[in-house]
Order: sequence, then C-alpha cells, then structure tokens
Amino acid sequence: MHSPMPYRRLGSSGLQISLFSLGSWVTFHNQVNAPGAREMMAAARDAGINFFDNAEVYANGESERLMGEGLAQLKWSRLDYVVSSKFFWGLDAGTAEKPRINGRNTLNRKYLMQAVDGSLQRMKLDFIDLIFCHRADPHSPIEETVWAMHNIIEQGKALYWGTSEWSADEIRTAWDIAERHHLHKPVMEQPQYHLFHRKRVEQEYARLYDDIGLGLTTWSPLASGLLTGKYREGVPAGSRGAMQAVSFLRDGLLDAQKNAAVGQFEAIARQLGCSMAQLALAWVAHNPRVSTVILGASRLAQLQENLGALNVLPKLTPDVLAQMDTISAPLAA
Ligand code: NDP
Repeated sequence: MHSPMPYRRLGSSGLQISLFSLGSWVTFHNQVNAPGAREMMAAARDAGINFFDNAEVYANGESERLMGEGLAQLKWSRLDYVVSSKFFWGLDAGTAEKPRINGRNTLNRKYLMQAVDGSLQRMKLDFIDLIFCHRADPHSPIEETVWAMHNIIEQGKALYWGTSEWSADEIRTAWDIAERHHLHKPVMEQPQYHLFHRKRVEQEYARLYDDIGLGLTTWSPLASGLLTGKYREGVPAGSRGAMQAVSFLRDGLLDAQKNAAVGQFEAIARQLGCSMAQLALAWVAHNPRVSTVILGASRLAQLQENLGALNVLPKLTPDVLAQMDTISAPLAA
C-alpha cells in the first residue's frame, strides 16, 4: 500500500494531474503487449494516476494504438484521464529515391495539422488532452508552429499544448508570439529530469515558472533504470540496456562514476527503508516545479514498486536532501 496520490496543477493552468503518471516509450509494444498495457493502465488508474503519456514516434505509432485499445476496453469516463501525444520526428521516412521531406523532423504547419489526425485515429479518441512539440525545429519559424498548435486546439482536436526539450529562450519566444496574437499559449514543457540531469529544470527554466506559469511533465526519472542500481555489475539480461533498439543508452547506463554514486544512494535508501528506485522517484517529485513525474515500467511489478515512492516523499528531510545533493550535484548535467 502507498499514500494517496497527490494532484498538482499543470503549471498555472486549471488542469490537475497526478504527481506520478505513466509513460509508454520503449515499453508499450516492444516489452509490453496489449493485455499487459491494459493491465498496467488499470493498475495505474487504481493508484490514482490520471495522466498517460504517449507520442507519435513511440514504437512507430504502435504505442498509441495499444494505449487506444486499452482506453477503449477500460471504458473510463473521458473526464477521468488525460492523455498526450507528441510530434516532430514523423512516422515514415519514405525511400532513398522518394524521401518524405515534409513529414520528418519538422514542426511545419502541414505536418502538425496532419500528424494530430493520425494520433487521434490510432488512439481512437475525439481529442488529445496535451500535445507537445517533441523537439524544437530550427528550420520552421516558431510563429508558424505556434499558429498550428493554436489552430489544432481551436479545431477541438487538443486542449493544451506544450514543448519537449526546448530551450528557455525558445519557450519564451513561443509564449510571447501567442501573447501578442491572443493565441493559445504553451502551458507545459516535457524535459528530462533526474538526479543526474538537473540543470535545465533547476537553472535554465528558473524564470519561466513564475513569469509564464510553465508546468513540467518530466521524463526518465530513473535515468532509464540506472538509478535503480541494476547496472552496477553490467547490463542485466532483459533490461533496457540490453535492447538493440535503444543501444545509444548503453554507455550512459554503464557510466562508472554514476554507478558508484548509485551505491551511495543505496545507503540512503536503506536508512529510509525504501528501494533505490523509490528514493530517486521521490526526489524528482519533491521539486514543486514538477507537475508530474512520468514513470516508465516494463512490468507491472515495477510500476507497483515505483508507486511506493509516495511513501518516501515525507521522509525527504532537508538533511536527506542535502546528502543526495552532495552525491548528485558534481555528476549532474
Ligand atoms: P525511467 O527513467 O523511469 O526508466 C524506466 C525503465 O527503467 C523501465 O522501463 C524499466 O526498464 C526500468 N525500471 C523501472 N522501474 C524499475 C524498478 N523498480 N526496478 C528495476 N528497473 C526498473 O523512465 P523512462 O525513460 O521510461 O521515461 C518515462 C516516460 O517519459 C516515457 O515512457 C515517456 O512517456 C516519457 N519520455 C519522454 C521523452 C521526451 O523526449 N519527451 C523521452 C523519454 C521518455 P527495464 O525493465 O527494461 O530495464
């Protein structure tokens, strides 16, 4: 059992989302099949999770299909959940002879207006609650992207829009354009945030929280599993680190200094009577600028363990936080 799920506002918007949410990158379709995804979503909902994160590019559209299938079968009231998608990379590169030039690595108006329709179809939804520009596009004018996101919302296909991994300057520019033209403004950003990746959330974005009311839906709270301690003796079979599709993560997961630091976190977790995953997750949730911590889980048991982070939150005293800071700060990007 864990403490009740708290809800936080998504930045200065009126929307309340659960402090922990469930994401589907890497896992849905690749590690978790349709019944598994539905079971995980049901367990998440039972625990109070009301936000489910997705993206067009996850498993090349199959993650959206699985989530849509789960939602159709679970038959929750549409008021009771918030679902997202993200756009930038596109689904199909075309061929060498005929590359798809307008649907790849872009936030141009044409791609965005069509991409949202594809996500709606795959998820079998009338609207998506949160849509994100999955990366910044240096080639499309920000003004064009802001207008497209505004128009998608005006068409009733989405409710709120935001960015993912944009610089503070880019977010501020988009917000200013929307303010100037009375358009729907970006409400949230989705950045990487965990004990080894802190500067953007804690320093670069610092002004944006109060100045424009930016909310955060943060990703990879366990640094893809590194913070669970499972990579201290190499890559365990069946783990994310062993997957060819995300082999670009492997060097980071095996980083010797970080794995040594993880050993120090283990001592703190032992004192608090929790797992290393729970400690790392509670640390992210402790930051009041974070609207929701998006959890990743390849198995139901991981999700259940990770939700136990709710019990650890009150144990993060100033003394514990200072100890964690001493370990993490020198290594954190
Ligand atoms: P984490 O950093 O928490 O990594 C999750 C993975 O760690 C799991 O799939 C599992 O992998 C392992 N794990 C989780 N819990 C445990 C545990 N208790 N014990 C042992 N291993 C565990 O999160 P993700 O990287 O998955 O990111 C979360 C979500 O954020 C994504 O699903 C996605 O929705 C979003 N995201 C957004 C991005 C963006 O650009 N906007 C980028 C990346 C993610 P395994 O069992 O396979 O080892």
